[in-house]
Amino acid sequence: MLTNAPRGTKDILPDQVYKWQYVESIFKEICSEYGFDEIRTPTFEHTDLFKRGVGDTTDIVEKQMYSFDDYGGRNLTLKPEGTAPVVRAFIENKLYSDLLPVKYFYIIPCFRYEKPQAGRMREFHQFGIEIFGSDNMMADAEVIGLAMDFFEKLSIIELELHINSIGCPNCREGYRIILKEFLKDKYDNLCDTCKTRYERNPMRILDCKSEVCQTLVVGAPKMLDYICEDCEIAFVALKQDLDAMGIEYEVDPGIVRGLDYYTKTAFEIISKNIGAQGTVCGGGRYDNLIEQVGGPATPGVGFGMGIERLLLVMEKSNIVIPRDDEIDVFLAVMGAKAQNFGINLTRQLRKNGFKAQMDLKARAIKHQFKYADRLKARHTIVIGDNELESQMVSIKNMTTSEQTMVAVSDIIKTLTQLR
Ligand code: ATP
Ligand code: MG
Repeated sequence: MLTNAPRGTKDILPDQVYKWQYVESIFKEICSEYGFDEIRTPTFEHTDLFKRGVGDTTDIVEKQMYSFDDYGGRNLTLKPEGTAPVVRAFIENKLYSDLLPVKYFYIIPCFRYEKPQAGRMREFHQFGIEIFGSDNMMADAEVIGLAMDFFEKLSIIELELHINSIGCPNCREGYRIILKEFLKDKYDNLCDTCKTRYERNPMRILDCKSEVCQTLVVGAPKMLDYICEDCEIAFVALKQDLDAMGIEYEVDPGIVRGLDYYTKTAFEIISKNIGAQGTVCGGGRYDNLIEQVGGPATPGVGFGMGIERLLLVMEKSNIVIPRDDEIDVFLAVMGAKAQNFGINLTRQLRKNGFKAQMDLKARAIKHQFKYADRLKARHTIVIGDNELESQMVSIKNMTTSEQTMVAVSDIIKTLTQLR
């Protein structure tokens, strides 16, 4: 128990972490090219923010949040998603007084109480972006474009973009009536949660993960067939913008998304190769969220991308992630004087930008060489009493076994040449 990580969480060990650092660096690179600034928000927020922001009839709020009372009696929640916290920060810090639109990105852990399986964790990680302050579909196209260009930079080619329009409060009212009519004679068979959703938010039933509910909604009327003129014009504009950018897509009227705040554009980027949890990226437009959370009416659009799923896709596609795990030089030192000399030389080498290590256990030389191999040293330098006396050392290239004799004062210069 004590030595097991909690169910649904995972250590990212040093031999894996380079993959994370790599995708994070490429994500930051693409965000910088697209002009998105990083924003960091707290790991927990007031529970009410998610109730209001994500929607209290969603699976996330009804079943998945890690909520707790702190010692001061505040009800707090570990963030299950990234948009509501950024919206909160935008309002609290009056970032809306800036010239709009503003564009943010974040890299965050998310917490949801789910049934752990491949691609579904209780603590998982997301890349996310948001554009606040433009109701033009060019913003939606830019959000989607960033995601697609990110995948291209990572050499991922197998992902499919699916888009939909899930309307606005205007056209949803009529659709709700039509949907309730369709579900009326199925009501008795719905799961308990969906029974309560029938009156409160019937569209959520379309997104229920229960197998029974999923079967019951087969053939249900689609929102896309009932969107108003305004939403229709927007959807056409989005498709034109994507066409202009040369981005391929499939219109998928089945997309509903698991969060209440979406309006108009909803999209998913899907892999067919990583099993049932194939949605790597999900996003869309949320024109009422900022106002709903208490800010000035400001439209928004963004996405959340699962990093674990992204890495699964890369693994399945056999994409090799570059790894720099070698060191420039290892100092093998013999005797107290040499140790004393070595600890300073190692430090000087580091100050000159070399990845330098020495043995911290004062072991026999043969074990030090073994350690140098384990550290993948490109060069080793042995330092003992003789070397200290003559002030000459030999730099050994570990690949070719070639040795170069140099004066101690020339070590840094020579290593720079050997690089
Ligand atoms: P799903 O339908 O798979 O449950 P979702 O609609 O709940 O996904 P979002 O809330 O839109 O997902 O989150 C955005 C992305 O975060 C998802 O597309 C997915 O890649 C990732 N994600 C969501 N939940 C998990 C989880 N429990 N474990 C790992 N990744 C997740
Ligand atoms: Mg989910």
